[in-house]
Formats: sequence, C-alpha cells, structure tokens
Amino acid sequence: MAPTLKKKVLIVGGGPGGRVSYMVLRNMGFDDAAIVVNEEPTIICSLPYAVGRKLVPEGPEQVVVDMARADRLPPDMMKDVLFGEAVRLDLENHSALIEGGEEPLEVTFEKLILAPGAVPWIPPVPGVLGEGSADGGTWVWYGRELIRRDRLAPNVYSLRGAADARALDAFAEKAKRAVVVGTGAIGLELVEALVDRGLTVTVLEALPHVTSALDGEMAAHLEERLVSRGVTVATGALLAEVTPRGVVLGDGTTIEADGVLFATGVRPNAELARAAGLVVGRGIVVDEAMRTSHPDVFAVGDGAEIIDGPTGKAVLPLIGTLAMRQALVAVSQILGRPMTLPPATPWGVSETLGLHWASVGWTEEAASGIGLPVVGLTLPYNTREPYMALNRKGFWKLVVARGDEAKGITPGQIVGFQAIMEDKSPLFLAERFLDIVTRRETVMDLLNHYFIHSPAHNDVNDPYLQLVFMAQRMFQNP
Ligand SMILES: Cc1cc2nc3c(=O)[nH]c(=O)nc-3n(C[C@H](O)[C@H](O)[C@H](O)COP(=O)(O)OP(=O)(O)OC[C@H]3O[C@@H](n4cnc5c(N)ncnc54)[C@H](O)[C@@H]3O)c2cc1C
Repeated sequence: MAPTLKKKVLIVGGGPGGRVSYMVLRNMGFDDAAIVVNEEPTIICSLPYAVGRKLVPEGPEQVVVDMARADRLPPDMMKDVLFGEAVRLDLENHSALIEGGEEPLEVTFEKLILAPGAVPWIPPVPGVLGEGSADGGTWVWYGRELIRRDRLAPNVYSLRGAADARALDAFAEKAKRAVVVGTGAIGLELVEALVDRGLTVTVLEALPHVTSALDGEMAAHLEERLVSRGVTVATGALLAEVTPRGVVLGDGTTIEADGVLFATGVRPNAELARAAGLVVGRGIVVDEAMRTSHPDVFAVGDGAEIIDGPTGKAVLPLIGTLAMRQALVAVSQILGRPMTLPPATPWGVSETLGLHWASVGWTEEAASGIGLPVVGLTLPYNTREPYMALNRKGFWKLVVARGDEAKGITPGQIVGFQAIMEDKSPLFLAERFLDIVTRRETVMDLLNHYFIHSPAHNDVNDPYLQLVFMAQRMFQNP
C-alpha cells in the first residue's frame, strides 16, 4: 500500500493553470493544498525566444521557474510540491495515486483542480519514431497515440517544456539546416529563432497559406517577409516521411535538414480525466465555474474546453492568460467566494521577423468552414500620418457575420479581427476587439468606441468611423 497524504485541495499540473491555482489559494489565506508537478516549470511563452537568444540572451535556463525563489510564488511553496505524475484518480473515494517521486503516494482530497494542459501533436508519418535522445519525462501525441518523448527519433523536435527548449537550443548550436513543420504562431516564432541562430530554414504548411490564424490575403504579407529573409516557404505541402537526412513530401520532393521541428498544434491532456469518468469533449467539459461533471473536481487551462464568445460553440482556447483567470475562478468557487467566467474568445498575437500580427476570434476562412456566412472588411492602416518619415503601413480586417438566426448571430456582429503591421504592436487593438467580439457587438456598435489621435502615434483617419461607413453601405443599404 502506498503511503497516504491528506489535503483539502489537490492540484494536478505545474503549468500556469496549476501554479496560479496554488498562488491564489495561498493569497486568499488557504494553506491546506498540494500541487503535483511532473516537469521543471518554465515561462512557456518565452521558450521560442530562449532558443533564438535575441530577447533571452542566456537561453532556456533564463526562463526556468525556480519554485523556491520565483518572485510571484509563495516563498515556502516547495513544502506543498509533490514531484511526479498523477496516474490514477478515484473520484468516489476522493483520492489520487502519484507516481514518479521517491515512492508512490496516495493523496486524498476534498476538492481537486486538474490543470494537465496540452501536449504537442505530431502527425503520424513514418520516421517520426526512433531511438530518441530526449528525456522521456513528458508526452506528445503521435497521431492518436500518447507517447513518451524519448520515443521520438533523435532528429525530431517539438516545443512545450524546458527540456524541449534545451534540446532545440543545443540543436541550433550545431545544426546548419532545419525544417519547421507548421506555421502557427509557435512555428513562425521558431522559424525566427532559428534564423536568428544562423540556420537555413524551410517551413512546411499543409494549408494554401501560412498561419490559419489569418486569412490568405493577410497571411501573404507574412509569407513575403519570410521569403525576403531567406526562409523557404512551402505551402500546400504534405509531409510524407521524416528521414535521418530531412523530409520527403507527398509529391516526392526531398528537403535535406539536420532536424525536423514539429509545431503542428497541441491536443488536451485529458486522458487522466477521461479514465476517471469525467465528461470529455474536445477537452475536459467544465461549466462557467470551471466545475467538471463531478461536483468536487475543477479543470482549468489548456486541458479544458470553453464556450466561444461570438458563436457559443465549444472550443479549445489554448491561451495561458485565460488559464490563469480560470484558476482564479476555480479557487474562488472552492473557497466559497464564487466567481464565474463568461464565454471567452481565442486569440493569437505574435511577431514574425519585424511584422506584428494579431488575430481574435474567427477568420473569414474558418467561419466559412463552419457554415457561418460572413463578410470581410479590410482597411489599410498607417502607424503614423502617411506623410511622416516613420510611417509604416499595415492592415486591419474585420470579419462580420451576415447573420445566422439559428446560431443566435445578428447581422453585422463582429466575429473576428485581424491586424498586421510593421514595427508596431497591435496589442491595444487586439485587446479592444477581444472585448468587442466576446460581447457580440456589431459594426454599428463601433460608434461607441472612441478613437484617440496623436500624430506621433497614429493616422488622423478614424478607422472605426470608416468601418461604420463600410458597414452602413453593406448592412443598411444592401
Ligand atoms: C511555445 C509556446 C508559446 C506560447 N505563447 C503564448 C503566449 O504568448 N501567450 C499566451 O497566453 N499563451 C501562450 N502559449 C500557450 C500557453 O503556454 C498555454 O496556454 C499554457 O501553458 C496553459 O497552461 P496549463 O497550465 O493549462 O498547461 P501546461 O502549461 O501545459 O501545463 C500543464 C502541466 O501539467 C503537467 N501534467 C499533465 N498531466 C499531469 C499529471 N497527470 N500529473 C502531473 N502533471 C501533469 C504537464 O506535463 C505540464 O507540465 C504558448 C504555448 C507555447 C507552447
């Protein structure tokens, strides 16, 4: 029999969702919790920059979170950290079996917070598996199979944790050529990191254009930038095989490379929850209190699905900042000071070789994919007055629903926003449109959002007003 530990609250997972759950509990004066941590915590979002070294000169070690010393964590946190993996949950008896530490441990709890996150997904093509050199600690999806990382071939990489970043950093040090598979934010951040480290990079994308977070005409600007910086971009490219010398595409093309980096998305790590009998859809199903199908079990972060603000569909947000909000909500419920989280909207913001881009909600292409009739309103954007020396050009795009009564979507509702601009962060716009899209506002509601002009910061043309004019033409005088 494994020794037993009794705690009022048990947290599974040491990523942002789990760590913030622990922090909030302690912050609210609660001190009867344990957190199961199975890998060295890091600031995941900074890992590509740690590999690139431009913004994080000391590399991956600089973003490892030392739980004993981190500014934002309670200084005595280590007393509550259980190193290992929760391998079984018995929800009837409120207990979890933890393995991987010095010896197996049975932890009983009154409330459980699951924060198991997500796991990189790698397409099941030949050559991905092999006698790998990665440490075997954590997981990746190989198609539908959850496998330990040490089953990957030694020239195959992905990026989620500190160990991955160290392996990629070492790869960047010695390699000359790389293939990156996937052109979402993480894929493109990795491309830039490797370019910064002096590698020759080919990036593969199965879709007709890079990054599905942007519509084709917006993504074209990114593609131009990549090519102008010497990156080979292969769109509509189907990976057929990984070989020790590179990759083979579906049309027989071979590309030589010292390593192949997969940035082909993630899938929730919901297997523990599923095995314990919790309801799992695309991710662990939770209500607006982050409560799962068991009244004493909560789930937060990338492992859980949410309700999408603009459409009401179940979606996987896969966003760190949301995981932290969800942690606050779950803990407030447990401590009897309940908060809830309304539907939210996924977003992506990144920078690729000097071009900043943002995407909130649905692209025109994704909306069409779910049968939602939309129209795209695109505006050129100047970062300053057009005649100013430092003016840089960019574009905004709104994705506006034509209306879908069955889905409860009104004509003119803004369901998506995209921006791409040179040398300027679109964060302020993305945050504003995140609220607009989540609150299901229409283009005409833009009139209620005020516009500030200052020549050193932007162009005098009020883009909100221009969008209202465009919408008037479209929706009021069809
Ligand atoms: C390269 C990269 C860049 C990103 N950039 C951004 C960004 O700029 N902004 C943003 O908001 N988000 C970003 N994200 C997404 C963000 O990192 C995730 O949304 C966030 O990490 C989710 O937190 P989490 O706690 O739910 O999951 P995770 O961070 O995945 O942590 C879950 C942890 O639980 C562990 N675990 C799983 N099962 C068990 C078990 N049974 N027992 C013990 N431990 C277990 C996992 O191994 C993992 O360590 C990025 C992600 C990546 C990979």
